[in-house]
Amino acid sequence: MSAWRSEITIDLGAVRANVRRLLAAVGDAEVWAVVKADGYGHGAVDVGRAALGAGASALCVATIPEALEVRAALPEARLLVMGPTRTAEWGAAAEARLEIAVADGRVPEGIPVHLKLDTGMGRRGLSELPSPTRETVGIMSHLATADTDPVFAELQVQRFREAVAPFQGRFTCHLANSAAALRLPTAAFDATRCGIAVYGLSPFGADPADDGLQPVLSWRSELALVKQLAPGESTGYGRRYLAERPTWIGIVPVGYADGFRRHLTDTHVLVDGRRRPVVGTVSMDAIAVELQSELSVGTPVTLVGDGLLLEEHARLAGTINYELASGINSSPLRARRIVIDARAG
Ligand SMILES: *Cc1c(COP(=O)(O)O)cnc(C)c1O
Repeated sequence: MSAWRSEITIDLGAVRANVRRLLAAVGDAEVWAVVKADGYGHGAVDVGRAALGAGASALCVATIPEALEVRAALPEARLLVMGPTRTAEWGAAAEARLEIAVADGRVPEGIPVHLKLDTGMGRRGLSELPSPTRETVGIMSHLATADTDPVFAELQVQRFREAVAPFQGRFTCHLANSAAALRLPTAAFDATRCGIAVYGLSPFGADPADDGLQPVLSWRSELALVKQLAPGESTGYGRRYLAERPTWIGIVPVGYADGFRRHLTDTHVLVDGRRRPVVGTVSMDAIAVELQSELSVGTPVTLVGDGLLLEEHARLAGTINYELASGINSSPLRARRIVIDARAG
């Protein structure tokens, strides 16, 4: 690792396996891979290309600039912008052959649109379907509780089914996210928009293996400093960790500016493959780990991966894997990003 403070590894074989798993789960429906927010922190272009290669039919992003970045690398991909767009962006959208979701009265001309209906998310969406214009290619809605409340999700499925009934066969109807694609077969319709599961992360905050998913991202660093605290000595801001007895600690050069959230104090990382607790306050650029014995500088540390799940960190930090994943900072100013593309995956 030497010059690098940490390494983020993206396994495209796992992306392909996850897309195939989703394809198997949704029957005849298409799988569209959601690569907004730079592919949930994994890299939109790398993940998007692998997902398409494994059988995904389109890529979805949140913004026009996100779509333009993907378009530059993937000239043939079908791209849907799901979030709000400004009229000033429509020219660029048309030129880049994007499709956009329309959730208010403003329907752009000359751009394929997906009418977005609000069936219960209570967020962006039309309360009723207008008569579709010539540009309409899809009708969509979004589930609020596919991961937590299947009864309400089924109600949304029912509302969507009634709303699209007059148009089925004419437009691509799509409602499901990852949670629904995996566990709510009635929500599949013509296409499913899958984000978190493509990354091998559980939409349910559980072990991804429960749903046949393989984590794509691993994040590793090493001990940059090893020292012994005498009883009464502390490490880190606020002296929140005080050694009770002579204690070896290791400093890992990763902190909240890298995406290792401040709420992750007390979580575990793997030091040389063994679970050890993170102690004291997480700094911007460093964390401290309690060791069982003296270890050498350079000992490998796994922050995510090798069986240590992002879901476990998320539970401890009181958040969800989505937030932690999209917050990991893979800027080359902070980390080295490695993409592995083993064809066998
Ligand atoms: C982000 C998003 C998705 C993907 O949700 P996952 O839970 O990550 O599968 C699907 N549809 C819309 C409209 C979204 O914004």
